[in-house]
This record gives sequence, C-alpha cells and structure tokens, in this order.
Amino acid sequence: MKLCKLGLIALLAAGIAVIPAGEGSAKNVYPKNVPAVTLNNGMQMPQLGFGTFTLKQDVAVESVKEALRQGYRLIDCAQGYGNEAEVGRAIKESGIPRSEIFVTTKINTNVMREGTVRQSLDESIEKLGGTYIDLVLIHWPVEGKVEETWKIMEEYVRAGKIKAIGVSNFNPHHIDDLLKYATIKPVVNQIEMHPYMTQYDVAAYTVKRGIRPEAWGPLGQGRLGVVDDAVLRSLGEKYGKSPAQIVVRWHLQRKNIVIPRSQNPAHIAENINVFDFKLSGKDMKTIDALNKNQRANPKNDPDNFPW
Ligand code: NDP
Repeated sequence: MKLCKLGLIALLAAGIAVIPAGEGSAKNVYPKNVPAVTLNNGMQMPQLGFGTFTLKQDVAVESVKEALRQGYRLIDCAQGYGNEAEVGRAIKESGIPRSEIFVTTKINTNVMREGTVRQSLDESIEKLGGTYIDLVLIHWPVEGKVEETWKIMEEYVRAGKIKAIGVSNFNPHHIDDLLKYATIKPVVNQIEMHPYMTQYDVAAYTVKRGIRPEAWGPLGQGRLGVVDDAVLRSLGEKYGKSPAQIVVRWHLQRKNIVIPRSQNPAHIAENINVFDFKLSGKDMKTIDALNKNQRANPKNDPDNFPW
C-alpha cells in the first residue's frame, strides 16, 4: 500500500497502526541500498544495522568505525554492553555527521531495579557523544518496573533528548500491559529471531500492534551453528552467497529490522552486501522450516530471565 505523506500523518494522528510493506516499500535512503523503514511515530530507521554486544574497548571502536565505513548507519548498543563511550568515539572519529546515523541503546535491568533510570539516560546521552539518542529500549521486561521506566522514557522524548522509544524481549502480554498506560507507543520490539528461533507468533503480534519487530542474535549469536547449517550452506551455493548473507536476506524479506554483529571486517562487509539478490518464496519457506524454537541461550526467556 502506498501512502501519501498527508495520508500517513492522518493515520498516525488517528492512532491507526501503519506498518509499511518494509523492504522495497521505502526509498533506499541509506548507503549500500539499505532500505528505510517508517516507524509508527513517522521516523525512518535503516532496516539493517550493526550489533555491538560483546565488543569492548578498541575492538568496539574499530568494528563500529569499519561498519560505518562499509555503509551501516544503524548502530545498536546497550548500557549493559559497557561500550556506549566507544560507540560515541567511533561515530565522532568516523567523520560522518551524527544526524546521518541512527543510534539505539537500551536501559539495563539493574538500572530499572535500582531506580536510576534518569541518571543512566543522562550518562548514555553523554557517552554517545550527542545531545540526543535516536532510540532507547527497555532491555528486558523487569517485573514491576516497566511502567515507571516507560514514563521516564516518555518524559525524555518530550524533552527532545530521545527521539523514539521501544521495548526488547517483550512477549505479547508485556506489550498489552504497557499499552494500557503508554501515551507514546513503542516503535520496535527487539527480540531473538533467527532460523532456529523464528518467533513468528511474537513478531506477528508485535506487527498487529503497529510495532516493528527487530531481530537480535540474527545469526544465532555464533552459538548454535546457524551459519554452518547444511540447508543454508546449500542455499548459499545456489545464490552465490555465504550462509550468513542468506540469513540476513531472509530477515529482510520477513520485514524484520536486523542487526548482525561482527568484529571481522570481511564479515562486516558480507552482512551488508545483501541487496543484489532475492530469495524465492520456496527458499524462504525452506528456511522458515528450520525453526526449532531454540534460543541461543535457554536463559533468554522474557518470562524468566536471571539478570
Ligand atoms: P549475531 O547473531 O549477530 O552473531 C554474531 C556472531 O556471528 C559472531 O560470533 C560473529 O563472529 C558471527 N558472524 C557475523 N557475521 C558472520 C558472517 N558473515 N559469517 C560467519 N559468521 C559471522 O549475535 P549478537 O548476539 O551479537 O546479535 C546481534 C546484535 O543484537 C547484538 O550485537 C546486539 O546489538 C543485539 N542484541 C540484543 C539483545 C537484547 O536482549 N535486546 C541480546 C543480544 C544481542 P565474527 O565476529 O567472527 O564475525
């Protein structure tokens, strides 16, 4: 469905969920033909970005700089990764205007429990080197702490310090609870999704609520052998691509926002060079069928996590 700008504004104003068709529906406004997706607040976000979990110190700075050189314009970090300052430094040293980069961070569980959300957000803004953050997520739905955290996040949006807010690791019941009191709707729900853990039910529910699904651990976190899967290897041979490129492409065609992480420059390049081929419907279904509901780590359960 094509919406003119005025029509889109009218629908947004009326609170009607607008999930554009995703990949292929928006103008290619980012380098390497990475499509823009339109969020439910009207903002645009690259559909493909760069993850930074486990990347520390100089490795974080160099990997993020390499990603930016390769054309990534969405960088995903978190308070809990301990690398916001490094991400901020990499952005500054890249020479790319801050306004051309979309930065996501996430509020840590201990911050929610200790009631230091405001202080942590001020520190995140400072470390990320700017006066604002594009997108802040609740990292995990800490029981009894989501509502007060969300209200503070809304306050930061109103103050212009955060442009968009969203959630991560939210199951449908967490989303429904939040929507009872939220005056600003989450723009994304970042959840574990890869060929062995497709989470179609949660993703579909998220879409139904006008919220974009975003895939974390899109390659199985390097733990499950996803990129060594025989089916993905043979699809890679068919398309002349690596298994990782097949998986990234599958995410894009499923309309997920996707944020693979790598500290290997060849992999960083591979993962963004996925816009010169298209998986057939049959091959998409073949990948869908690999699902085993297998989390990269069984502890990553939004209803029962130990952190
Ligand atoms: P990924 O699924 O992105 O997997 C990363 C692993 O895949 C690394 O071992 C990497 O190794 C390997 N890899 C990357 N590219 C290739 C390639 N082309 N070929 C072969 N191997 C490859 O795991 P992440 O956990 O990092 O998930 C992505 C991002 O999602 C995170 O970095 C983080 O930003 C976010 N995240 C969010 C969470 C949440 O709770 N909201 C939880 C976890 C992650 P190498 O470095 O050698 O390339």
